[in-house]
Amino acid sequence: MLQIGEVMKAWKKNIRQVIPYVPGEQPNCADMVKLNTNECPYPPAPGVIAAAKAFEPETLRLYPAFPENTNLVEALAKFYHLKKEQIFVGVGSDDVLANIFLTFFNSDKPILFPNISYSFYSVWADVYRIPYECPALDENFCIRPEDYKKENGGVIFPNPNAPTSIYMPLMQVEEIVAANPDVVVVIDEAYIDFGGQSALSLIDKYDNLLIVQTFSKSRAMAGARIGFAMGNAELIKAMNDVKYSINSYTLNAPSLAMGAAAVEDVEYFGETLAKIVNTREEAKRRLSALGFSFPDSKTNFLFATHKEVAAKEIFEYLKTKNIYVRYFSTPGIDNYLRITIGTDVEMERLYTALEEFLN
Ligand code: PMP
Repeated sequence: MLQIGEVMKAWKKNIRQVIPYVPGEQPNCADMVKLNTNECPYPPAPGVIAAAKAFEPETLRLYPAFPENTNLVEALAKFYHLKKEQIFVGVGSDDVLANIFLTFFNSDKPILFPNISYSFYSVWADVYRIPYECPALDENFCIRPEDYKKENGGVIFPNPNAPTSIYMPLMQVEEIVAANPDVVVVIDEAYIDFGGQSALSLIDKYDNLLIVQTFSKSRAMAGARIGFAMGNAELIKAMNDVKYSINSYTLNAPSLAMGAAAVEDVEYFGETLAKIVNTREEAKRRLSALGFSFPDSKTNFLFATHKEVAAKEIFEYLKTKNIYVRYFSTPGIDNYLRITIGTDVEMERLYTALEEFLN
């Protein structure tokens, strides 16, 4: 802000003004229960830990391999029955999504995403100067497919949606993709492994469809920063061309090695998901009994509101107990808490604190 008498420096006029995305806090206190950023409460697969230990720091003098030639892409191709050319990897799905905005959303027409959704979308649109419109969710927080059948410069939405946790059936996803053959449609499947059906089965049928997933939730590797997109080879090549025009080596060598090990351990992946889903279903019962209601989550979090006590008050109280959940002051969802599913022990601490506060 300019003070009176201060001269505006010419270079300041050329600053790209943006209001950045604000991620959930990363507190670091001894006995905290961290249920605020949808991380996995369990460690990564044993193979990941072995790969980290086997990593030779001496090799850090070398650049990492090109992503498309890595064990990580090979492992993903095998797991999802795709060709290597159909996979793009990046530094978390945020990096992958930012690349998608830059690569495909270049029209004068607005891109479309829901008004209540991952709040990073509007930030990327702003930073890249992409026009956008945000159709409103219906009264039950559901995406209305008919809102995505008008002229647009691209479509993106999470499925399940965040922070609502609601999964849209594959038939409706296909309806949106089929209605938009002239633009790229992106399904952000950050939470798909916790119960929904991926739209991956549609990528051979629709050449304009991109699926984005992450290692940060279901694969317990938020700290390694790995995300990926899957689609037809032409879309993936376009993304790689843009990526190699900015920074060729993005994923670092230890992350590449650990990521491949995570994908290879199919059994551990299934076991971890089952534990989280069980805890989630129990959380639905326990939180209902405490007076909360929420959409039927197919994710690793619940989007909960209390029948009597304001969400913000509950959020502040839990913080005093070193229990962190996420609260958004955004109109329309400002009486909701997004509660990540933790371990059973962590969830018991949450229920006990809530019982004390609410009764
Ligand atoms: N998409 C959605 C819907 C998310 O909630 C998140 C997590 N904040 C991301 C993408 C990004 O996750 P990451 O960059 O850790 O892969």
